[in-house]
Amino acid sequence: MRIGLPKEIKVKENRVALTAGGVATLVRRGHTVIVERSAGVGSGISDADYEAAGAVLGSAEEAWAAEMVVKVKEPIASEYKYLRPDLLLFTYLHLAADRPLTDALLQAGTVAVAYETVQTSDGALPLLTPMSEVAGRLAVQAGAYHLQKPNGGKGVLLGGVPGVAPGKVTVIGGGVVGTNAIKMALGLGAQVTVLDVSHRRLQYLDDVFGGRLVTLTSTEENVRAAIATADLVVGAVLIPGAKAPHLITRDMLSLMQEGSVIVDVAVDQGGCVQTIHATTHDDPTYVVDGIVHYGVANMPGAVPRTSTFALTNQTIRYVLMLADHGVKALEADPALMLGLNTAHGQLTFRGVADAFGLPF
Ligand code: NAD
Repeated sequence: MRIGLPKEIKVKENRVALTAGGVATLVRRGHTVIVERSAGVGSGISDADYEAAGAVLGSAEEAWAAEMVVKVKEPIASEYKYLRPDLLLFTYLHLAADRPLTDALLQAGTVAVAYETVQTSDGALPLLTPMSEVAGRLAVQAGAYHLQKPNGGKGVLLGGVPGVAPGKVTVIGGGVVGTNAIKMALGLGAQVTVLDVSHRRLQYLDDVFGGRLVTLTSTEENVRAAIATADLVVGAVLIPGAKAPHLITRDMLSLMQEGSVIVDVAVDQGGCVQTIHATTHDDPTYVVDGIVHYGVANMPGAVPRTSTFALTNQTIRYVLMLADHGVKALEADPALMLGLNTAHGQLTFRGVADAFGLPF
């Protein structure tokens, strides 16, 4: 199959959908990979790396003309012209939040498979997990940075020093993001508390981290108590398919000490903090009632060299299936079939149809 790898053109997007190693794997299987020139530069992968892996370098038009196009971000308006009926598109799409793209894919008749809805039989979302891992780890790094006085915080070193108590980190939601935040916070030497509504999740975290971590059932009283002493709060809740619940309301901010930091990773689902709104890497924080709020909605974009490899480690097996078998791969793999969002002018994912009141 001819596979196209366009450069991401969404503002500040430096990831790329295949590494040179991924290209080499496809080429060894007899496929042709057309890589748009400079597609990998933002992730530290040069054109020469791709050429050495067997790629053909080309223009955006040449990459998009392939039978299958593999991307990271959803096509933006200037890319809609490349959509066509005989195109198989594999990328993050998030269609329920993007009516213009949904309409463009339906009008073009493109077969579009979304990373975020590929789901294995145990309910896991294998192509979302790697970005949650990155965001969870980054949350503590960002929080530690913004706790520093020159960066707007109260001036606490999370690890403390001999003779001075370490900082306190409260993680709300102990799933993939939360667990990775916990690892980083414990690694820095902070005192860490996690709250979750899932007792099984708390049992798991207690087993794994033992006495190094305080686990609390997520009730309003426990949230109030845990944020009152926290230097850094990480919001990491997810209720699949729904907006995040506001577990920290504006009046609760007054419980916290001035200069404390909230990193609400769940901001992409509306956030679990009432006062959070989406921010960008260029201007990531703002202050409400003395509390520093960090609400970057695409945190993994800050570390494209790590994120590209983390993402492609997971996508490559599905890219290979699609390259080897075309759309027949969807019938053979139920997890991949759940990724199908549009085909030949039809919406094929219920969540998107429901979001727009369209027929399914
Ligand atoms: P996950 O499903 O692995 O974990 C969510 C956890 O929240 C679960 O353990 C669940 O039991 C818990 N939870 C649900 N309701 C709760 C409540 N009331 N109190 C406490 N815990 C509760 O999800 P995840 O992969 O860790 O993702 C978490 C959030 O981070 C999602 O909104 C995801 O979209 C977001 N995310 C954001 C970025 C970013 O760049 N900002 C990147 C990746 C993920």
